[in-house]
Amino acid sequence: MIIAIKQGSPAKEVRRFAKSLEEKGVQVHFSEGASQTVLGLVGDTAEIDAEALNANHLVEKVVRVQEPYKRANRKFHPDDTCIRICASAGGECRVGGGFFSVIAGPCSVESREQILDIAESVKASGASFLRGGAFKPRTSPYSFQGLGADGLELLLEAKKQTGLPIVTEIMDLSQLHLFGDVDVIQVGARNMQNFTLLKELGRCGKPILLKRGLSATVNELLMSAEYVMAGGNENVILCERGIRTFETYTRNTLDVSAIPALQRQSHLPVVVDPSHAAGLSWMVETLSKAAVVAGADGLIVEVHNNPEKALSDGEQSLSPSAFTSLMRALKKYIEMEGKSFSNGK
Ligand code: PEP
Ligand code: MN
Repeated sequence: MIIAIKQGSPAKEVRRFAKSLEEKGVQVHFSEGASQTVLGLVGDTAEIDAEALNANHLVEKVVRVQEPYKRANRKFHPDDTCIRICASAGGECRVGGGFFSVIAGPCSVESREQILDIAESVKASGASFLRGGAFKPRTSPYSFQGLGADGLELLLEAKKQTGLPIVTEIMDLSQLHLFGDVDVIQVGARNMQNFTLLKELGRCGKPILLKRGLSATVNELLMSAEYVMAGGNENVILCERGIRTFETYTRNTLDVSAIPALQRQSHLPVVVDPSHAAGLSWMVETLSKAAVVAGADGLIVEVHNNPEKALSDGEQSLSPSAFTSLMRALKKYIEMEGKSFSNGK
């Protein structure tokens, strides 16, 4: 971090200011020119708030050289992180570090029959994880809100029956006690900056699938990951799920460039959600291929046994047979990328 000091600032005050910075654990190097003093901060500046420094009367300008995230930063962890999740029969599903995973299932858990049926079919097609929302963040309070705790019970039954680890969304901390047997906790786009939730999930030790907010930048997504990691939970999977743009043809716009951007900046695995990005089932396969070729470490795809009757997101949900052909179509692209498919065997 570089801090330009205002011209004419009293030297004594600048020294005192430098000392206060050193107390935050960084080294301060002085460059004193004829008319300007510049302070160079060396060390871990993640905890130094550039905006607060700008408010100091001695400061002309602050330039951040290093990213404000540390634990999520590839500079401090050059190797890709591989997140391991136990599957049935002692197997393991791995996400990242050369392993490709597919998370598949309905948008919402709707009934016992529905979730068990879909779980069996996505497993037969080779999915690594079963997804399904029990607590649903819906735009309208009059839309189906999910089955809540009963939905989680049904998901756990599907996990028991198929051996597939499960991924499901938490909307509020009050629900956390129900997530004991959930394998991966999803933080939805709308909660990406719910910092109270992120901090608590940082203490829970379970893998977190963190979805990018509708209007969040790559940097903001990484800062949210940092919140979880700062609490001691390093198991974060980042998810690009489409962002808001001026385009209305698709539900969102899949930001393919976020995949290499996130992977350049961070060691965390990146999965892509082509279903919420497109909002259209017929586009899911094309976007999935694009995601694989752009380097994604996995996909999260909505699958419904009867998309026309789905209680949420039917238009973007694949039928079980369309999911089977997606999995077949992706195989060669995943191999081309030199990744191994991970489905817990
Ligand atoms: C979902 O996965 O069903 C969901 C609500 O996703 P998002 O938070 O990305 O909108
Ligand atoms: Mn959905």
